[in-house]
Amino acid sequence: MISENEQLSPAEKTWQTHEALNELYGVLDLRKPRREPIHELISTMLSHRTTHANEEKAYYRLREWYPTWPEVIAAPVEDLTKALETAQYPGPKAINIQKALRLIQAQEPDFSLHFLEEMSVEEAMNWLMALPGVGLKTATLLLLFNFHKPVLPVDTHVFRVSQRVGLIGAKVTAEKAHTILLDMLPKDAAVLFNFHKHLYWHGQRICIWKGPKCSECPLCSICNYCQEVRQKGIDKGKKVM
Ligand code: SF4
Repeated sequence: MISENEQLSPAEKTWQTHEALNELYGVLDLRKPRREPIHELISTMLSHRTTHANEEKAYYRLREWYPTWPEVIAAPVEDLTKALETAQYPGPKAINIQKALRLIQAQEPDFSLHFLEEMSVEEAMNWLMALPGVGLKTATLLLLFNFHKPVLPVDTHVFRVSQRVGLIGAKVTAEKAHTILLDMLPKDAAVLFNFHKHLYWHGQRICIWKGPKCSECPLCSICNYCQEVRQKGIDKGKKVM
């Protein structure tokens, strides 16, 4: 049973959000990764500011035009850019992908990233984020999804829902949100996987950017945004949801 908004700390709200969304969407098992780590890394690099459908189109065209990683490295950058054109910023992404692949090849000629398994979270994060074009979101997605490490990826949907509900402050950046939210959750990959996936789905389906569907949302009683909208309606004597 979800509590009312008053007196809840951000940590309590975070846990209540987790429990309410577990109920709404169902608890997921940590899955077998959909792709090998190197493939996941490159497709996640393509996802920046790009819809999932367009990321997938760019990824499959890249694989079709250049079936091996050495071929991607050797491709003329203009041609690689053309292959990636459904993604946003295909030119910078093409350059970063080639540079990242060269660095990975220098360490692991077969492009295997399985050595990350043996690293601590901090070491693995540092190693990944030293690659061009790899930021917090990409590194945490790879480490959580492929290696089941206890990190929390914060994409645009996770960020928006967290801010509206009041799990993080209005001025917190997406970068900072990674650690603030992680500090309020158990360091358990299964919990973090569910929290990430559920807030992601919630942001896509209910807490959408324009016109969130608060009347359908189980978080309204603890959500700052929803309570403010409701209060404004009461102040103006309007019928509220
Ligand atoms: S109550 Fe509204 S604003 Fe709050 S999380 Fe749900 S849909 Fe988003």
